[in-house]
Amino acid sequence: MSVRSEWNMACPDCGRDDELSVELKVFATIYEDGTAINDGDHIWDDDSACQCGSCGKKGVVSDFKLPVREEIER
Ligand SMILES: [Zn+2]
Repeated sequence: MSVRSEWNMACPDCGRDDELSVELKVFATIYEDGTAINDGDHIWDDDSACQCGSCGKKGVVSDFKLPVREEIER
């Protein structure tokens, strides 16, 4: 199990898949003194900001998607 095998993603520059971060959109309940993030209500897609913590590469999720899983494993 890895990010590469489960999500078909890896850094296009350094090839690592273990330090990828993605920008999330989250829903949070609003209270009079702040907010609390709702469990499970977060969203990201191919256009979400994405970065590699290993080499510093920044882009969007689609930049980090591998072409086709079958081609990678052959
Ligand atoms: Zn990288």
